[in-house]
Amino acid sequence: MDLGLQGKKAIVCAASKGLGRACAIALAREGVDVTITARTAAVLEETAAEIRQMTGAKVIAVAGDIASEDGRAAALAACPSPDILVNNNGGPPFGDFREWDRDMWIKAVDGNMLAPIFMIKAVIDGMIERKFGRIVNITSASVKSPIAQLGMSNGARAGLTGFVAGLARQVAHHNVVINNILPGPFLTDRLRGGLREAARQSNRPVDDLIQERQANTPARRAGDPAEFGDACAFLCSAKIGFIVGQNLLLDGGAFNSAST
Ligand code: NAP
Repeated sequence: MDLGLQGKKAIVCAASKGLGRACAIALAREGVDVTITARTAAVLEETAAEIRQMTGAKVIAVAGDIASEDGRAAALAACPSPDILVNNNGGPPFGDFREWDRDMWIKAVDGNMLAPIFMIKAVIDGMIERKFGRIVNITSASVKSPIAQLGMSNGARAGLTGFVAGLARQVAHHNVVINNILPGPFLTDRLRGGLREAARQSNRPVDDLIQERQANTPARRAGDPAEFGDACAFLCSAKIGFIVGQNLLLDGGAFNSAST
């Protein structure tokens, strides 16, 4: 299927590695000019060069913290009128909520709730005027099935999900659609880091935990970031204007439900 994205422009936040990077690659393959962000300039530049080489697309790399006003302004200056916005960020730390103070909570809410909301605020009126917009927020399977040790992630992402559910229905008639993708286990630095920490705490080899995590998934494997990228490109397609405010789980069937 031709996704109808040739010549469109996208901002993909937090995209030097992992799921964001995969989304940028998939969009670039569809002929989209992509502006990618991350904090570590050298890694980001490397990723931008890789995507250019792989796809021939125009790729702009903007180093900065997407949770900060400056970081967002820099991304928007490089791509002021995006047709597509993929909101992503690093996730909050694992731990026990008794150890988290107000500053830690504010950081989590800033990063995983307010940063995407302010990016949406900056681009949505232009999308409405142009009668085309696709926004995908990368959240987490924890939105449907909370993970005990990820309380800040559960909380901040629930806030974003609730906000998006309302806004998506206000803007859909302008052909501006907002959806969320909820990753289950994808073997990225983030998941490896979490499993390394769990291995340390339980004094078990990390490979055992990775095997266990895969065995507990109906697909019997972890997700490949490339398939996450493809799902994201699909949700950015010109053809999906009737898919509105959905929370698409990509978890290999891990969430057990007759109708998700
Ligand atoms: P990852 O492999 O660790 O990649 C994170 C990317 O985000 C890197 O490019 C990183 O680059 C960038 N980044 C982090 N903080 C940033 C900031 N403040 N501003 C700009 N860029 C930033 O992580 P991932 O696995 O792709 O995860 C992406 C999101 O999905 C996270 O929120 C994660 O919690 C969520 N998630 C992932 C999984 C999974 O299995 N992988 C499951 C559920 C949810 P810099 O560090 O250089 O900034």
